[in-house]
Amino acid sequence: MIIGSGPAGYTAAIYAARANLSPVMYEGLQPGGQLTTTTEVENYPGYPEGVTGPVMMEDLKKQAERFGTDVRWGMATKVDFSGDIHKVWIDGSKLIEAETVIIATGATAKYLGLEDEKKYAGGGVSACATCDGFFYRGKDVAVVGGGDTAAEEAMYLAGLCNKVYLIVRRDVLRASRVMAERVKKTPNVEILWKHQTKGLVGDNGVVEGAKLVKNLGEEGEEEVNIKIDGFFLAIGHKPNSDIFADYLDTDEVGYILTQPGTSKTKVPGVFACGDVQDSQYRQAVTAAGSGCMAAIDAERYLSEKHS
Ligand code: FAD
Ligand code: NAP
Repeated sequence: MIIGSGPAGYTAAIYAARANLSPVMYEGLQPGGQLTTTTEVENYPGYPEGVTGPVMMEDLKKQAERFGTDVRWGMATKVDFSGDIHKVWIDGSKLIEAETVIIATGATAKYLGLEDEKKYAGGGVSACATCDGFFYRGKDVAVVGGGDTAAEEAMYLAGLCNKVYLIVRRDVLRASRVMAERVKKTPNVEILWKHQTKGLVGDNGVVEGAKLVKNLGEEGEEEVNIKIDGFFLAIGHKPNSDIFADYLDTDEVGYILTQPGTSKTKVPGVFACGDVQDSQYRQAVTAAGSGCMAAIDAERYLSEKHS
């Protein structure tokens, strides 16, 4: 059984189906995963002209179904990994029993919760600098956040863009000292300390600026407007691992821990791949690669179990 239908889940399905494992996949609330929320994907190998996220995911689905993956609508809502046969409940009622479970439920980027983030989605708002930074070459952008991700994304964008504002809500960075020092020394990064975002401005759904407030609720509170073409969120991700937490080890954020170099979790027969177990790379191609690993690990587990 495969839970999740992003690049990790579909790649696991392709490998599992071609190995005659009869995979059943539950798609979850976002069939096709995170890439269905983006337009151009230009860094996935094999598409020299680029491809839109939805088309790429349709291609992966067709490829998985071609070899016999049973793709079903539904959300895993509860699991019991205590026995030899693993139990997964779908939409709170239907019970599926499987000898192996591949978890490919992804991670969700956190947003500030502003209406404008939805209004300008696909028009300058992004939660992935590696994915979308290229579209802002030579332009001015802002990154929100003060952790390692924000520092890393700001430095990555600094290499592409004219200017990067780093919007930090406190007067310190949470990022590790080495990353903090590096970002502070990057000449075209301007850190806006103690600033918070109130909204975005633009025309025809395309970002042209951000409305900020400095020293919110304190003496010296003031409105600050910046002109930007891109607004990047880097305030953390939430792995979709809550329902597995009673059975699997996770790090403090919730990323499922796997044995190094494999997709094996601490429960025999349960494997994890893609963004749900990857706090570092979070790319479609790395998710797909780990989906391949999970299917191969599952196949070997079953061969050994039945030999
Ligand atoms: P996801 O794509 O997150 O898919 C998770 C799947 O799990 C979904 O189908 C969901 O419905 C399902 N699911 C979750 N919970 C449950 C449940 N309880 N039961 C059943 N199903 C469940 N990467 C790139 O390499 N290049 C890019 O250009 C790029 N652009 C991006 C643009 C945007 C806007 C975003 C948000 C991300 C982008 N990424 C890009 C990152 C890339 O999308 C992710 O790294 C990749 O999708 C992770 O794949 P995944 O299979 O692990 O999970
Ligand atoms: P994080 O460490 O949780 O940092 C999130 C940042 O976003 C914090 O600075 C936080 O501010 C800010 N933030 C949260 N909500 C906000 C809001 N509503 N408005 C404004 N700012 C908000 O997350 P992360 O940076 O993604 O890192 C996650 C983990 O991965 C960390 O352990 C990190 O070290 C690791 N990581 C490591 C590397 C690396 O070593 N190269 C790279 C990336 C990530 P406050 O500080 O005020 O709370």
